[in-house]
Amino acid sequence: MLLDLFDGALADRPSALALDDLTHRQLHDAALRVARRFDVLGVRRGDRVAIYSENRHAVVLSYLAALRVGAIAVPINVLYRRSDLAHAIGDAQPSLVVSSSGAAPFLEGIDTGGAASLDAAEVEACARNDSLTQLRPRPQRSPAPDDPALIIYTSGTTGVSKGAMLSHRNLAAIASQLTAAWRWSGSDVLLCTLPLFHVHGLVAALTSSLVAGGRLLLRERFDAAAVLECLHAAGVTMFFGVPTMYVRLIERVRAGGAAPPPLRLYVSGSAALSAQTHRDFEALFGASILERYGATEFGFALGNRYGGPRVAGSVGIPLPGVRVRVAAPDGTEPVSEGDVGELLVDGPNVFCGYWRQPAATAAAFAVDGDGTRWYRSGDLARYDPDADVYRIVGRIKELIVTGGFNVYPREVELAIEAFPGIRACAVIGKPDAARGELPVAFVETESPIDLEALEASLRERLASFKVPKDIRVVEELPRNALGKIDKPALNRRLSEI
Ligand code: AMP
Repeated sequence: MLLDLFDGALADRPSALALDDLTHRQLHDAALRVARRFDVLGVRRGDRVAIYSENRHAVVLSYLAALRVGAIAVPINVLYRRSDLAHAIGDAQPSLVVSSSGAAPFLEGIDTGGAASLDAAEVEACARNDSLTQLRPRPQRSPAPDDPALIIYTSGTTGVSKGAMLSHRNLAAIASQLTAAWRWSGSDVLLCTLPLFHVHGLVAALTSSLVAGGRLLLRERFDAAAVLECLHAAGVTMFFGVPTMYVRLIERVRAGGAAPPPLRLYVSGSAALSAQTHRDFEALFGASILERYGATEFGFALGNRYGGPRVAGSVGIPLPGVRVRVAAPDGTEPVSEGDVGELLVDGPNVFCGYWRQPAATAAAFAVDGDGTRWYRSGDLARYDPDADVYRIVGRIKELIVTGGFNVYPREVELAIEAFPGIRACAVIGKPDAARGELPVAFVETESPIDLEALEASLRERLASFKVPKDIRVVEELPRNALGKIDKPALNRRLSEI
């Protein structure tokens, strides 16, 4: 399965670069040395290996080593502090915790249940230790396709986070889907500034790059100036980012930075990319961003066509091997073409459930008359037959019902984002005694804007019940580690006022 895909790429391109300056052969051998160390520390098949560190080689090595010994890698958001961290560790019950010196202090006082610990620097030193020649090529019994390979705690912006389990089969499917859809080959060089504790960085970027036999340039974090500099350097063919990264790159070039020569592929995901950002980027960088839609529980489901057209403000069509359906609430019955419904996902990429949470797992699926188990994404979407693409209009939980009418936040956000000077915005529902809820907008601006003109322009373009009753300009919208706007934090802000 997944390990076979890695081994296939290794056999094809042993001396090609895989991770920064390490070749596929060197990375493979290094991961086996770390796997041996894990084995000596008592890590067994099915055990969890928690990885709590900023991006560095130790994260890649620990992930690969965990897979080699048949253990389950549990990357933990490096921004997690006491309660989230204690929850993830207490829930996953790892037998080994790998942490970097920057992150480790936050583990102090957290009950790790007697887990062994390894410092990230020790992992890297062990990987370089050529005297560890007795490499174990494989665990005694190779992991089965349905064995969990990864547990990723969901973003946690909607209550206590759950550990989504992705199996070896899931990861192999996701990597195969992305490499096929995006014509990914061994000659590709991907610049990765995304955190490796999330599917975007760990699976879309790292895992797929290893399966393609390509090279990954790993950076600790995103920095617009450093990214532009690196994109100018010869050889980078792909960049994956979240929308805020693209906004920052545009700002940087507008402020005088030189735009790099066009890359083969820019991908955006994890949150909605505004149509304006898509157009601005194309004008400045000469490349049309490929927007895709995904989630921890299924990797990726939809993406704009590689060969175009890449429709701004849309998430394109299903990836190879993925089926989606736009269904009526609480069911699997498709809505009429063009109507809004919940996006359901089916395919070999769909996760095997939440770690030790059978009830939450059961609730995450809807079964139709054919017996197909559809994953309920919780996202509202509609198929646009004119452009032949899907569009995400918001999360079910974020749907605003005002005076009995539905307001899809994304539709209002798109209308606001089209107004000059808006950098980003978020629309949420404010409780209201008379109408149940009222739409309220928070906007982050590039330059001072005329609020009355904005409101007048929204009135022209939107039904009156959709026009926010309150528009607040904020210096910076709250965002999570991936740059996604934290709407629960905005809700809290509203209730505090
Ligand atoms: P996570 O599990 O943290 O990756 O979050 C997944 C959620 O991010 C999805 O359920 C969507 O709500 C949102 N999301 C991901 N990609 C997109 C996109 N291209 N457009 C809009 N929302 C997105």
